Amino acid sequence: MTGMQLPLKHDYSCEEYLTQKIWEKKLLSACPNHPEGGCGFERLGTYTRSSSDGRGEVPIARYRCRRDGKTFSILPRFFAARYLGNLQQLEDQVVAAEAQGAWQAAKNLQASEASSHVDSYQWLRRRKKAVHRCLSALVGLLPKTLVRGVLQVRELRRTLGTKQTLLHLRRQLEGRLPQLAVPIGFCGASSSRPIS
Ligand SMILES: [Zn+2]
Repeated sequence: MTGMQLPLKHDYSCEEYLTQKIWEKKLLSACPNHPEGGCGFERLGTYTRSSSDGRGEVPIARYRCRRDGKTFSILPRFFAARYLGNLQQLEDQVVAAEAQGAWQAAKNLQASEASSHVDSYQWLRRRKKAVHRCLSALVGLLPKTLVRGVLQVRELRRTLGTKQTLLHLRRQLEGRLPQLAVPIGFCGASSSRPIS
């Protein structure tokens, strides 16, 4: 069975999402592939992702098209696509790696996130690379915001005047997320469970 992630088009915080049990609401009224109906579109329970801010496991709603055998999971905006944790946490990690260098920034992660300094360093470098690659791919879509060659997140924070740049871009590009690269977009995030 193949799976696809779709964005939840609302700015719930993790706390609001959990308190209001948003995953239990009707998040998709029709099959994305067969809006006319008749394909046996149905809810398929949930899977969970770990909240990176200490709120425990967060249920993610899933749906299934019986005709195509495809599943659709509805990812809240605050989660990074494909990578563990929240988009904001990922942004803060990348900014730390940009400012201090990944080797130094990894020292602060070592105790909680990975088993050794080298592991943390490599983990952080992968994340930084993924975010920078994602931003590079967005240059053509947002020429006024993103200037090729100035793709550090901390530069972007200054340009946009916010410390939530990845969330800002995710909101701005909402209609295109299925085609855009992870961790902002969902292309490459077909499996329901995130990697590290
Ligand atoms: Zn369908």
